[in-house]
This record gives sequence, C-alpha cells and structure tokens, in this order.
Amino acid sequence: MAVAAQPYTDKTDEQRAITEMVRQFVDEQIIPNAEHYDHEDEFPAPIVEQMRELGLFGVTIPEEYGGMGLDLTTYTMIVEELSRGWISISGIVNTHFIGSYLLMKFGTDEQKQRFLPKMATGEIRASFSLSEPEAGSDVQGIKSTARKLDDGAWEINGQKMWVTNGLMSGVCFVLVKTDTTAEPAYKGMTCFLAEKKPGVHENTGALAGFTVPPKIKKMGYKGVESTELVFDGYRCPAENVLGGEEAGVGQGFVQMMDALEVGRVNVAARGVGIAQRALELALRYSQERKTFGKQIAQHQAIQFKLADMATQVDAARLMTLRAARMKDAGERSDLEAGMAKLFASEAGRFCVEECFRIHGGYGYSKEYEIERLYRDAPLLLIGEGTSEIQRMVIGKKLLQRHKI
Ligand SMILES: Cc1cc2nc3c(=O)[nH]c(=O)nc-3n(C[C@H](O)[C@H](O)[C@H](O)COP(=O)(O)OP(=O)(O)OC[C@H]3O[C@@H](n4cnc5c(N)ncnc54)[C@H](O)[C@@H]3O)c2cc1C
Repeated sequence: MAVAAQPYTDKTDEQRAITEMVRQFVDEQIIPNAEHYDHEDEFPAPIVEQMRELGLFGVTIPEEYGGMGLDLTTYTMIVEELSRGWISISGIVNTHFIGSYLLMKFGTDEQKQRFLPKMATGEIRASFSLSEPEAGSDVQGIKSTARKLDDGAWEINGQKMWVTNGLMSGVCFVLVKTDTTAEPAYKGMTCFLAEKKPGVHENTGALAGFTVPPKIKKMGYKGVESTELVFDGYRCPAENVLGGEEAGVGQGFVQMMDALEVGRVNVAARGVGIAQRALELALRYSQERKTFGKQIAQHQAIQFKLADMATQVDAARLMTLRAARMKDAGERSDLEAGMAKLFASEAGRFCVEECFRIHGGYGYSKEYEIERLYRDAPLLLIGEGTSEIQRMVIGKKLLQRHKI
C-alpha cells in the first residue's frame, strides 16, 4: 500500500497490542514513581530492569540478533507512550536506539554480532556523543581527535559534553576528528565504538583513559544522567571504527547525521508524549477546579486553551507518524523528520505551559505532576538540534527539493 494512502494513526494488531502493553506499564510503573526518581535525581534502575524484561531495548533490532525487529513507526508509537509517562525514561532508550541504528546500518558483520545481541536484551546500553563544551550545533567544530598508533590501535583524546547515559552505558558511539586538516572538516571525522564499564567513572586496564566526571546538575530531565566524557590517551582497537577502518574512517559525520534523522523522529515522538500527558492533566484539573460558581472548564478562555492543546497534539502526532512511515517505506524523509521534530517539540512546550496556567498556583507546586513536566519539556527544544537549527535544516531541504 502506498504510504500516503495509509492513515497515519492506523495501528496494526501488533502495534495496538504493544502500545497497550507499554501504556499499562507506564500507568502502573512509571507515572506513580517518576516523582520520587525526579526528586532524588536517581537512576530508575527497577523500571529499567522491567523495560529489559519487556524487550524494550531491542524493539528495532532484527530478530536474528535477539530483538523484536519492529519498524520505526512502531518504535515511535512506543516512545510516545513512554514519554507520556516521563521523558527521562524515553531518554534511556533513545541513545540506545540511535546506537543500534548506527550498528545496523553501518556496522561490520563482526560488530553487529558482537554488540547487537547484548544490546537487544539491554545487557549493554549505548550512548552517543557528538557535543563538546565548545561545539553543539556546529558539529564540524568539534576538537576531540583520534590518531593511529604504530600498533594499529587508535588513541582518542578530548572532552565531550552532555552525554545522555554517559555513565550507565557500556558502549559510546563517539565522533572525533581523525584528520584535523580535512577540508571541509566533516570529511575528517570518524565514529568509534568506545567501550567502557557501565556505572564506572574511572575506567582502568585496557579501558584506561576513559573517564566519566560526575553527572551534570540539570533543571529537569532528571534520573537519566547527562555527563561529560574525558578521553586522555584512551586506546580504541581498529575493529571498533564504525563500519571498519576501510569503510568507516572519514565517514563519521555522514553516519551520525543519518542517525540524527531517525533521532529527530524519536524526539518528535517524545514531544507528542509529553504534550498528550499535559492535555490529559489539563482536562482533568479543569473539570475539578471551580471558580465563580462553575468548573473552570466551563469558562470559554479555558476551553480555548484545551482546544489549542488538543489540536497541537493531533497535528504533532500526525507529522511524527508521517515522517516515521516515510522512513520505513524507504522514502526520503529528512524534511519531514525536521518538521516533525520542530513542531512536536514546540507543541510539547506549548501544551505544558498551557496546562501549567490552567493549574493556577497549584501548577507551581511539586504536589502536581505538571511541575515536573514544566521542567522537562524545554529539553526537547534543544536535543538533536535546536529549533533554530531545525528551521535551518528545513529551509535548506526545502530549497534542495524546489530548486528552480
Ligand atoms: C540534557 C541534554 C542532553 C543531551 N544529550 C546529548 C547526547 O546524548 N549526545 C550529544 O552529542 N549531545 C547531547 N546534548 C547536546 C545537545 O545536542 C546540544 O546542547 C545542542 O545541539 C545545542 O548545542 P549547544 O548547547 O552547544 O548550543 P549552541 O550550538 O552553542 O547554540 C546556542 C544558541 O545559538 C543558536 N544557534 C547556533 N547556531 C546557530 C545558527 N547558525 N543560526 C541561528 N541560531 C544558531 C542555537 O539554536 C541556540 O539557541 C544534550 C543536551 C542536553 C541539554
């Protein structure tokens, strides 16, 4: 069936079963416990363990490697449900998903055999690292390097920033420069599979030179750690160049940008999830709270807010699923992924703020879930390309497609 003819929100029986299962898990295990982990800024280990049991770390990994072998569309539906509960939980899955995508698309057979089965079960989880203290949007401006040693290994040096799952991951897909003189700069960049011990700050032995400083203190998006990474003489074997040395050296930027495209659909789904939750909370509270002798939901000004929120949630969901379905159908979807990420992350921020306003003073109280959502939502405006960068991507792709 042609993608365009398929209603974007239609679910197959399998998709319905899996999203209902995830929704139940979210309602029973994530929403009631998120406040605790958020308040303590504690890694939600029991929830992650249950996610492993549900197979959620292997959703898109092929069955031959022990995963579920599901498509991006189904994954997107799952991420929306998880994010409706708490976006930190979807953050734990997100970088892992990007790592598995990189391996599935660019990895050598040996790399796939070595990593994917353990990643499918969540035994090892992945992080990915482009950003540095002085370069986020401008990826080509990174300074970390890798140089080839006489014995064939690569030595990585440099500092990375804002690595989600930086401490708890067992492998980090890290982008560094292998040719600092390359023009343009992106041609001199390579992605390495930097292995490390999960949960260990100072790696030793064969992994020495890979340090994870204490986690960065954040306004929201708590529970999942964001860290710097310090590489100081860290030795990475040649077989850990993504795609192998011959095919992979100098290809890191292109590989990472490809992965960011699916990453954007994933962030869009997180925007839909948090927006959906804000709408649910607003619908409930507005029918509980009374002012001037009636439910606040009966004031037209509040109904207009609910209407705008519901419209944004719907539009964001449709755009996100369209981008995912196009990617699954093998169609070019870079423009649509950028548009979905921009719209859905802004919709998340909008809906959360409207929900906050509807809660009046109670929205400012930690007694109400909206307070957490209000601190969590802004992350989506930044991660995987800010709204400004998204507009640049959309503008560039538009002009490419409509060149006169
Ligand atoms: C909680 C958290 C988790 C993260 N997780 C990861 C991760 O796992 N891996 C990873 O690699 N990175 C991660 N990041 C980093 C994130 O991708 C970057 O913060 C983001 O890309 C923006 O980069 P920057 O912070 O350096 O801002 P800058 O690039 O310095 O941008 C600052 C401002 O300038 C604007 N701007 C920049 N260039 C332009 C331009 N050309 N035109 C117009 N405006 C412009 C930006 O939109 C922004 O408003 C994470 C960030 C956060 C906050």
